[in-house]
Amino acid sequence: MKVKYKRVLLKLSGEQLAGKFDGGIDPEVAGWLADEIKKVAQENIQVVIMVGGGNFVRGARIAGHGIQRVTADHMGMLGTLINALALTDIFEAHKVKTRCLSNIFANQVAEPFVHRLANKHLEKGRVVILAGGSGRPYVTTDTAAVVLALELDCDSVLKATKVDGIYDKDPAKHTNAKKISKLSYRQAVGDEAIKVMDKAAMALAMEHAMPLIVFDAMTAGNILLAATGKVVGTSIQA
Ligand code: UDP
Repeated sequence: MKVKYKRVLLKLSGEQLAGKFDGGIDPEVAGWLADEIKKVAQENIQVVIMVGGGNFVRGARIAGHGIQRVTADHMGMLGTLINALALTDIFEAHKVKTRCLSNIFANQVAEPFVHRLANKHLEKGRVVILAGGSGRPYVTTDTAAVVLALELDCDSVLKATKVDGIYDKDPAKHTNAKKISKLSYRQAVGDEAIKVMDKAAMALAMEHAMPLIVFDAMTAGNILLAATGKVVGTSIQA
C-alpha cells in the first residue's frame, strides 16, 4: 500500500463517541474506532486524535443563566478530557499503544501537552489523544485540531463527520444532492451553506495550506483510506 502521509490528525466529535446514546460514551463505538485506528498505526502512520466534547457540553450553548462563557468553555474542555480518558483506556484494551496529553491542567489524570513529549510518543508509534482542545476558551475542537496539526507538523487533518463528505445541497433534505470530491479553501470558507467544520478552523488551514479531508469515519476502512491519501469524502485544498 502506497502511504502518502507520515503523521495525521484525526478529529472525532463527541457526538460520534455517543454512538447510539443521546450523550456520554458508547464503548462499542470507541472499541470499533480503536480497531480502525490500529489499522493506520500498523501502516506506520503516526496518529494524533483531537477529541471533541459536544456529547457532554458545548460552551456556546450552555453559557448564560449565570454561567460565564469562559466557564462554559472550561466545562466543554473538561468534557473532552472525559472522552479522552475513556478512549485512552479502551484503545489500550484493544492493544493500541496510546497516551493521553491534556491542554488543560489535569496532572492527576493525564500527561500535560508538551510539544517534545507528544513528538516522542508519536515517534515511538503511540497514538496521542489530545484532551482539552487548545486549552483556551472561545474556540472549538475543530480549530484546536488545525492548530495542533500545525504545531505537531501533521500532513493532514482528517475531520470525521456523519455524512461521507461535503454535498452541494443538504443530502438529508435533497435526494439529488451531489457529493463534492474536491473543494478549494476559498469555496469552503466562503460558502455559508458549508457548516461541516468551523470557518475559523478552515481559514487557519487555508492560511497554512494544511490539507483537510472531511469523511465518514464510521464506515469500516475509511480512516485508513483517508490516512493513506486515498480518495474518500471531500478533500479541501488550495
Ligand atoms: N472548547 C474550548 N476550547 C478549545 C476546544 C473546546 O473552549 O480549544 C470547549 C468549547 O466550549 C466547545 C467544547 O469545549 O464547545 C466542546 O468541544 P466541541 O464543541 O468542539 O466538541 P465537538 O462538537 O467536536 O464534540
